[in-house]
Amino acid sequence: MKRILEACPFCASQQLNIVQGLLTQRVVCKVCNAQGRREKDALQAVNAWNRVYHELQLSRRIETRQMVREVGGLRN
Ligand SMILES: [Zn+2]
Repeated sequence: MKRILEACPFCASQQLNIVQGLLTQRVVCKVCNAQGRREKDALQAVNAWNRVYHELQLSRRIETRQMVREVGGLRN
C-alpha cells in the first residue's frame, strides 16, 4: 500500500525524503529542511507529517476568514 505524502506545509515542495535515524524515521523537506516528527516507522512518520500539513492548511483558512471579517468591519 502506497502512502500519500502531502507537500511541504512550509514551502509547498514535494521533494521530500524519509530519513531513517537509529531508531526513528522522519520526513525531511529537501528544499527548506523542515522536519516532521520522529516516529518509530515510516508510516507513522508520514502520518505525523500529513497531520502538520492539514493543521496548517486549516489554521490558514481560519486566519483568512478572520482577515475578511476585519476588513469587512473596517468598511462598515
Ligand atoms: Zn519545505
